[in-house]
Amino acid sequence: MILNRRSFLGTATAASAALSAPMALGQAKPRVVVIGGGSGGGTVARYIAKDSNGAVDVTLIEPSRKYYTCYFSNLYLGGFWEFDALGHDYGNIARLGVNVIHDWAVGVDRDAQTVALASGEQVSYDRLVVAPGIDFVEGSVPGWDVSQQSLMPHAYKSGTQAQLLKHQIENMREGGTFCMVAPPNPYRCPPGPGERVSMVAHVLSEINPTAKILIVDPKENYSKQALFEEGWERHYPGMVTRIGPDFGGENVEVRPDAMEVIIDGVVEAVDVCNVIPAQKAGKIAELAGLTNDSGWAPVLPADMRSRMDENVFVLGDASAQGAMPKSGYSANSQAKVVANVIRGELTGSRIFPARYSNTCWSLIATNDGVKVGANYEAGEDQIESVSSFISQTGEDAELRQQTYEESIGWYNGIVADIFG
Ligand SMILES: Cc1cc2nc3c(=O)[nH]c(=O)nc-3n(C[C@H](O)[C@H](O)[C@H](O)COP(=O)(O)OP(=O)(O)OC[C@H]3O[C@@H](n4cnc5c(N)ncnc54)[C@H](O)[C@@H]3O)c2cc1C
Repeated sequence: MILNRRSFLGTATAASAALSAPMALGQAKPRVVVIGGGSGGGTVARYIAKDSNGAVDVTLIEPSRKYYTCYFSNLYLGGFWEFDALGHDYGNIARLGVNVIHDWAVGVDRDAQTVALASGEQVSYDRLVVAPGIDFVEGSVPGWDVSQQSLMPHAYKSGTQAQLLKHQIENMREGGTFCMVAPPNPYRCPPGPGERVSMVAHVLSEINPTAKILIVDPKENYSKQALFEEGWERHYPGMVTRIGPDFGGENVEVRPDAMEVIIDGVVEAVDVCNVIPAQKAGKIAELAGLTNDSGWAPVLPADMRSRMDENVFVLGDASAQGAMPKSGYSANSQAKVVANVIRGELTGSRIFPARYSNTCWSLIATNDGVKVGANYEAGEDQIESVSSFISQTGEDAELRQQTYEESIGWYNGIVADIFG
C-alpha cells in the first residue's frame, strides 16, 4: 500500500476558516480515513463516498469482515430474531469505492496525520474520523475483567458474546438465577439492559418458568424504567428483582469461578451472570490523545469535531457530545452531519446546519414494543435536546404492536443506510 503524506491545509492548528476552503484543483484527491466500521463509521464512509462521487478517497479501517449489530441482539436472546440476521458485511460499502482495510488501527500520529495499522502499514489522512465504539473500564466490577467473559459474558459488543449468553440462558438449571450487573452512566444504549431483562424473562417464562432474574444496578433510575417495570409485572409476575443503590446495588463484586455475586457484602450464588461493566471510549481514541479524564472524547456540538484536533472527528458512542444517548441511531445521525461537513471542507460542497435525532425501541414481550426519542441541536457547549417523546404506561395492545412493527422497519432501514 502506498500512503503518502499530504500538505493539504498547512498545519494541524489551521484556523477553522481555512478548514472550509476546498482542495485546490490539480492536487491529489483529499483523503478521509475512518477508524471503525460500525453504526457511525460505516455510515460516514458510505455517505462521503456516495455523495462525493469519487472526489474524495475514503479508507475504512475495521478488523471484522462482518459487523454484528448490538441492536436486536436482545431480540435474538429472546428468540424473536435469527443470529445471522444481525450480521452485515462491507461488500456494498467497498463497491461504492471505499477502500475497506480489515485491520486494527493501533495508533494515530496527529502531527504527521497518519494512522498506524497492526500490519505495520501507515495510512495518511486529511480528515480522520474516529468511531471505535466502547471499551470497558478495568476494575469497575471487582473480580471481573475481559479474561472472564467466557464465564460471565458482557454481550455488550454483540457477535459471539451474544451467542454465548443465549446458550447459557437456555441451559440454565431449572429454577436457577440469571443475574445482570448493570452499568453506571454513561453507557451504550440506556434502555439496552432493561430490554435484555425483558427478553431473558420471555425465554425463561417459556422454558424455565420457576427461574429468577436479579438485576444489580448502581443507578438510581434508568431509561424507560416505568415502562419496563409495568411490563415485567404484567408478563412475568414475580420473576424480576432489582437491587438499586439504596440496597447495595452500587457495591458489587463477582467471583466468576464460583459463580457468585457479592452484593454489599452478601454472597449470592447465581447460575448465569451477565456483567455489563462501566464503559469508556474505544481504546484507539485514548491512544490518539482524543479523550479526557472522563474516558470519552469531547467534541464540538455543531459538527462532532474533536476538541483536541481540528482535523479529527469523533462520533458515536466514543464521543462526549452532550444529551444524545449512546445508540446506533445517534451514531448514524451524527455520521451524516460529519459526512456533510467533511465533504464540504474538502470539495467545497454546501454545509448544512447540524440536526440530530434518535429513537430507541425496546421489546418487552411478544408484540409489546415501546420507544423513547428526541430531536437535538447544537447548543453553545454541547448537543441539546429540543423535543422528545416516550411511550406511556397503560397503552393499548394495538399501539404496542405498531411500535414493535415500527422497530423492525427501523432496523431494516438503518442497516441499509449504513451498509448499503
Ligand atoms: C444489547 C444492546 C442493544 C442495543 N440496541 C440498540 C437499539 O435498539 N437501537 C440503537 O440505536 N442502538 C442500540 N444499541 C447501541 C448501539 O449498538 C451502539 O450505540 C452503536 O453501535 C454505536 O455505534 P459506534 O459506531 O459508535 O460503535 P460500534 O457500532 O460498536 O462500531 C465500532 C466499530 O469500531 C471497530 N473498532 C474498534 N476499535 C478499532 C480499532 N482500533 N481499529 C479499527 N476498528 C476498530 C469495532 O470493530 C466496531 O466495528 C444497543 C447496544 C446493545 C449492547
